[in-house]
Amino acid sequence: MSYPSNHPTPHPDDTAAGIEVTAEFERFTQRNDMFTRAFWDDRIRSKQTDQFFASYRMEAAPRRGDGFTQRDFALRNASWLVSDIISNRGNDAGKREGFQAAIANDTPVAPMQQPVDDPARMASEIKRIARFFGADLCGITDMDDRWLYASRVDTRDMSEAPNDLPQGMTSVIVMGHQMEENLVATYPSALAGAATGREYSHEAAVVMQLAAYIRNLGYEATASMNDTGLVIPYAIKAGLGEYARNQMVITPEFGPRLRFSKIFTNLPLTHDTPKPRGVRAFCDICTKCADACPVKALPFGPPKISTDVSAIKGVRKWTSDAEKCFGFWAKMSSDCAICMRVCPFNRDFSKWQNKAWLKIALSPLRHLALWMDRKRGGRKKPGDWWARDI
Ligand code: SF4
Ligand code: SF4
Repeated sequence: MSYPSNHPTPHPDDTAAGIEVTAEFERFTQRNDMFTRAFWDDRIRSKQTDQFFASYRMEAAPRRGDGFTQRDFALRNASWLVSDIISNRGNDAGKREGFQAAIANDTPVAPMQQPVDDPARMASEIKRIARFFGADLCGITDMDDRWLYASRVDTRDMSEAPNDLPQGMTSVIVMGHQMEENLVATYPSALAGAATGREYSHEAAVVMQLAAYIRNLGYEATASMNDTGLVIPYAIKAGLGEYARNQMVITPEFGPRLRFSKIFTNLPLTHDTPKPRGVRAFCDICTKCADACPVKALPFGPPKISTDVSAIKGVRKWTSDAEKCFGFWAKMSSDCAICMRVCPFNRDFSKWQNKAWLKIALSPLRHLALWMDRKRGGRKKPGDWWARDI
């Protein structure tokens, strides 16, 4: 389905969210994402990409010195374990849950429905329960179907399959999961990949538990990680943060240092709104992420409409060269987030100094904030992470 039949008019929140769609808009076909193309597109698939995926089993993990030793891969691969168990359980049906298919429901929708008289109160309760289960951030937005994948992927043959989301969903609950700051500081390394894997494992548990709670109240809820739709526009619309040059959502709590998960539901809930604070203006004067990228995969200059096959069509935004980026991951046999590590917003905002810096960064004094950041963002040695008290 293509825009505008997909969504008759641009959404009223688009301006505040910094979202600009054009008449060429088309929903994204998940088969075209880089991780899926690595299985069917001969232009992407190589011995190195096969080695990348294989390295998540210890017998195939390479050894390359500090940050890529057996214990670095051991920690990274262990961090992914819970996520792997969930994603592998639907293999026979071609459903890689959490990645190329929504997470299957383990709990039926209760036959008795708890009445909801006050959707605002229910929204607060859901945010409280999200935190109770371990989410670091939670926001709620409407079911804007532009960001749903046009189709998902059947992993048995990498063909297109329908996105089997129940009809009548009205809200998307978006949760943020903070990545460990000291591990992120060691990117690029296999050790740093433990920060990614740990949050995928955390988020798998959190979305499943929160979805089960909603289903126990008598409402539909589908737990989702990278599957079913693009989480970034939902996170921005839910007021959690703003889109940045490094293709991440920058939040006032953790900067770009987090992952997002989501739940689709028909539980009556009020919706949050986007909160533009000034990140776009900061990225306009900063290119630290693009400068630091070892393969120059990030864009300089203003946001553009991308023609990259792995990018959504008809949306003006900063878009990476996904082939160059994933090529670097494959070469390292691990994920990379140098562009997260070096970002000036990658700080612990519970500290007063960083809160003060944030105020300056989001004000017309942003050039001063960028100058203040000039010596930060260097890589920490993975061996030093092991030497710390965990
Ligand atoms: S993840 Fe690494 S390779 Fe990819 S854009 Fe960021 S810095 Fe570049
Ligand atoms: S490094 Fe600079 S340009 Fe890149 S996302 Fe962070 S603030 Fe924006």
